[in-house]
Amino acid sequence: MRSIEKSQQAFKDASNYFPGGVDSPVRAFKNVGGNPLFIKKGAGSHIYDIDGHDYIDYVLSWGPLILGHADAKVVTALKAAVSNGTSYGAPTLLETTLAKKIQSIVPTMEMMRMVSSGTEATMSAIRVARGVTKRDKIVKFIGNYHGHSDSLLVDAGSGVATFDINTSPGVPKALAYDTLTSPYNDVATIKQIFEKHGDEIACVIVEPVAGNMGVIPGTQDFLQTLRELTQQHGSILIFDEVMSGFRAAYRGAQSLYGIQPDMTTLGKVVGGGLPVGVFGGRRDIMKQVAPQGPIYHAGTLSGNPLAMTGGISTLEQLTPALYDQMTEKVNRLAKGIKDAAASHHIPIVVHHVGTMWSYFFNQGPVNNFDDVQRSDMAFFAKFFNALLAQGIYTAPSEYETNFMSSKHTDDEIDQTIAGFNQAFDDVLKG
Ligand SMILES: *Cc1c(COP(=O)(O)O)cnc(C)c1O
Repeated sequence: MRSIEKSQQAFKDASNYFPGGVDSPVRAFKNVGGNPLFIKKGAGSHIYDIDGHDYIDYVLSWGPLILGHADAKVVTALKAAVSNGTSYGAPTLLETTLAKKIQSIVPTMEMMRMVSSGTEATMSAIRVARGVTKRDKIVKFIGNYHGHSDSLLVDAGSGVATFDINTSPGVPKALAYDTLTSPYNDVATIKQIFEKHGDEIACVIVEPVAGNMGVIPGTQDFLQTLRELTQQHGSILIFDEVMSGFRAAYRGAQSLYGIQPDMTTLGKVVGGGLPVGVFGGRRDIMKQVAPQGPIYHAGTLSGNPLAMTGGISTLEQLTPALYDQMTEKVNRLAKGIKDAAASHHIPIVVHHVGTMWSYFFNQGPVNNFDDVQRSDMAFFAKFFNALLAQGIYTAPSEYETNFMSSKHTDDEIDQTIAGFNQAFDDVLKG
């Protein structure tokens, strides 16, 4: 048994200062009955904990690190940027450079604004949608996660689901009341909601490829229905691509379905590991944001030079060919996982889209949050720990997504598949 004594001590110490010992709930390993590992450094596809263990990392800071840890070009660019100062509170060329790059990859971003997190991007996007339509109600889908702002913290995925907190205490009833929720991939229910409330709905916000209840792709029919209903009723369709942008495909999930949302939110990869979020979309909508229009949004560190440099030096290295390579690795890994489960007679559903992948110990199909909840979570917890013991670091919850980076090698994919086989052996032996 490998010793994680230093991480255990560090967790005890941190628990005096941070609720649950962490700065974000899903880091705590609470749900898988373990002690979180304290990380000393990352390099490429690997992370190293403070006890000296080395792991193949598929969490990748929960998505942003598509080029792996400490990519040489990103590090060089950041070092150069930091020596010029970290923030000016005045415009820089870097912001426009990143905006042009984003627009060249995601053309529906006609105008945009830089912020410092995905939460800020989605929170601001729904304010804009409410301001433009002069309506209060919004629609979100059960098990989708859009950050932790009040209106969006209703029936959410990710840590909210992991820790079984349906609707967080502290969210005012009035705000929760204006958030209508509907099951994901359910065309009939969303039609009913629009029949009843269509003229009161400011926006529909959706993860087009959901990644906060494991990976669940939206169906073409479902997303097409959202596009048509919002158009018919004068509501704004927001694709929350904070995770799926530059992940589900080079040009995001919207390119896979050929559907144009009115607004898009980005985060994670767009900052290359620095704090960046972006909201944007149709020019006529974004023109209503202050100071061009009356809808207020601001940020002291919005678009700061370090964050912009992290984004630029990451996006500059991304190409469609690189996505083909990463997707191929995910395909091979997914097949290896399925085969490993089958040879151990374990029911499993493996989902993957582009560089996102996850698996459910479930008979299937898994198309919405209810389906995910039918998974064998107790088995998952044991399995997660068995994988960790093999030096494979995956998301510590069945409600989360794993990722692939450009730095993962074919050898590491083989090692990971062997690790899955070994972990099944270990768990079944008890
Ligand atoms: C991670 C995530 C967010 C929140 O982003 P933060 O940077 O953690 O605030 C919002 N929406 C989706 C789809 C996400 O995956």
